[in-house]
Amino acid sequence: MQDSLNTPSYILRGVAAGGTLRVVAIDATQIVEEARTRHDLSKTATAALGRALSAAALLAIILGKKIDSRVSLRIQGDGPIGWLVAEGSADGLVRGYVREPGADLPIRESDGKLDVSGLVGKTGELAVTRLKGNAEPWTGSVELVSGELAEDVAYYLASSEQIPSAVQLGVYEEGGRVARAGGLIVQAMPGVTGETLEALEVNIAKMGSFTDNLRAVSLLEVMERATEGLGFQAAAEAQSARFQCRCSRDRAVSSLTYFGAAERQEMMDGGGQEVVCHWCNEHYQISPDEIAALDAPQIRARA
Ligand SMILES: [Zn+2]
Repeated sequence: MQDSLNTPSYILRGVAAGGTLRVVAIDATQIVEEARTRHDLSKTATAALGRALSAAALLAIILGKKIDSRVSLRIQGDGPIGWLVAEGSADGLVRGYVREPGADLPIRESDGKLDVSGLVGKTGELAVTRLKGNAEPWTGSVELVSGELAEDVAYYLASSEQIPSAVQLGVYEEGGRVARAGGLIVQAMPGVTGETLEALEVNIAKMGSFTDNLRAVSLLEVMERATEGLGFQAAAEAQSARFQCRCSRDRAVSSLTYFGAAERQEMMDGGGQEVVCHWCNEHYQISPDEIAALDAPQIRARA
């Protein structure tokens, strides 16, 4: 068994059934563990955001075409987590956060699993926004159908993008840490036969949970199990993926330009200002000198 925690996260792609099925999968163990520690997520919140992060990484590959394209996923349900936001980029960078990181629920009695749909809510909306360079963002959305997220993403792909797909997402925790996390999307391409789809459905039903599979075999073998008997061919190269925010100290400093001169003076008098990035929970301590340098003449004039 691979030690996923010490392996950087990665994405694999492949095709099956003569190219009429496209398969993309991610081992997101390290990404989800980083999200858990950065945001101090509860167990169930880790599972929920981990699934969303894995989905965002995969959607960025499926829906994004250029290297500068990004896909963000926003899930607003009626459960105690409030909402979740996850963003993936075509080059494998992922980030995300939730409204209530500490929200948690007891293990579900019916199946002994983390109650993700209870935490997210079964009623609400899943919205997917594509950002491509300087082009206008494009958003599509659907109602939540389960709150477990994999089914919701599959429903979104089928109804909003006309891409019939099988979607599996999972996070497995052990000893308070993320031991396995990731996901898999098998996308039906034009020309796919009914026979192929039936075989795929049988395979997926037989597999059980994504993380049970990822605990037992490698990510590549999980993809092979999903497409068993359908002539799976892996693409040669794995793509690395990681939790990485787009924030920076410079951006944090310039965010203070949205405040008026009097407010900035107050920040300087108070010994500086803390700026927190919601996406990654990085805390930037901005010094009075840095604030003064933003728009020095105006502040001096008013002081
Ligand atoms: Zn950030």
